[in-house]
Amino acid sequence: MIITYFVRRNEGVFMKDVTIIGAGPVGIYAAFYAGLRQLSVNLIEAMPNLGGQLSAVYPEKIILDLPGFSSIKAEDFITNLTKQLATKKEYIDYYLNEEIVEIIKKDDYFELISNNQKVYQSKTILLTCGNGIFTPRHIGLANEESFHNILYAITNIEMFTNKEVTILGGGDSALDWALMLNDIAAKVNIVHRRDEYRAKEGSIKELAKTNVKQYMAYLVKTLNGENNILDNIVIEHKETKELVTLQQDYLIVNYGNVTKVNNFKGLEIAKEPFGYLVNRVFETNITGLYACGNAINYEGKPKLITPGLGEVPIVINNIKGYIDPSTKNKIFYSSAADNISK
Ligand SMILES: Cc1cc2nc3c(=O)[nH]c(=O)nc-3n(C[C@H](O)[C@H](O)[C@H](O)COP(=O)(O)OP(=O)(O)OC[C@H]3O[C@@H](n4cnc5c(N)ncnc54)[C@H](O)[C@@H]3O)c2cc1C
Repeated sequence: MIITYFVRRNEGVFMKDVTIIGAGPVGIYAAFYAGLRQLSVNLIEAMPNLGGQLSAVYPEKIILDLPGFSSIKAEDFITNLTKQLATKKEYIDYYLNEEIVEIIKKDDYFELISNNQKVYQSKTILLTCGNGIFTPRHIGLANEESFHNILYAITNIEMFTNKEVTILGGGDSALDWALMLNDIAAKVNIVHRRDEYRAKEGSIKELAKTNVKQYMAYLVKTLNGENNILDNIVIEHKETKELVTLQQDYLIVNYGNVTKVNNFKGLEIAKEPFGYLVNRVFETNITGLYACGNAINYEGKPKLITPGLGEVPIVINNIKGYIDPSTKNKIFYSSAADNISK
């Protein structure tokens, strides 16, 4: 569970220096950095948690390529970012379960309107909305939504201790979970609709050494249970039509994600095929509207956490210069004496 270190909500319309849309790792760090530069911030997130893909898709996965961490759980990294954000809480308001659907450009500020009809005002905007709102792909069976023990993301691995678990999917993520759960669950099944995995060779070999029961080329036919608890699933072999019933305490669906791409009403923001088009200081074609992280694309851009975090000081320092031109082109060192211990 991602811990929330502070909750601070101002109701009503307040003009902010910058409104950050999307609280993935890049949006959280941008909000902190804006606070460090003494900019007032609204951080707005459509999902119920901070953390973007790291919270929604792989909170329990280990990340190996973040500077300064030889290995860290995605969830722990978000917790660390959130703690750092809290050090600047006097500058930051954040809102969860709020999707920005419309942006209106006024003379020298923007108005942002959410799906809940809330209105936010801001001198500038930073889009850190990734590829859009990230939701896990479902099985697609009619009664699926009624069962509470069908999971699309794992937020607490301990809950599977001594349980029977079935994983649906055959990609890297499904195999990683099968390997991890093999050590703690009583029984693990993996059901894949193809006859070959789409996962790393090493994981496939590792899986063969475990007790995980593998069902290849099977599709889920029915979900059975009562009182909102799934008791078993029936799977069917694609060719032989053989039916197998699998009992489980939890069913984990690992079919990847679908993204609902943002199409903000009110503005024509220029795009590249895989993100917003920005200049060297990450400003879009609309003055005062910036973007960074997975939301943008430029030649050679890897859609990873570190490049997105690296874009943050560039974009926020430029927003600072836009709002207060006297600060333009001045290097800001956080280690300067007046910042120490804040
Ligand atoms: C399984 C998996 C494993 C990965 N492993 C690694 C790894 O090991 N190392 C690495 O560097 N990268 C990894 N990545 C990639 C990494 O997760 C992304 O690069 C990173 O999440 C991008 O961060 P972001 O903040 O730009 O966007 P996101 O994390 O996508 O966050 C964007 C946020 O914006 C919100 N949002 C979107 N539209 C709106 C709106 N209109 N209103 C309000 N909120 C909105 C979304 O809900 C979301 O929370 C992995 C990705 C996946 C899927």
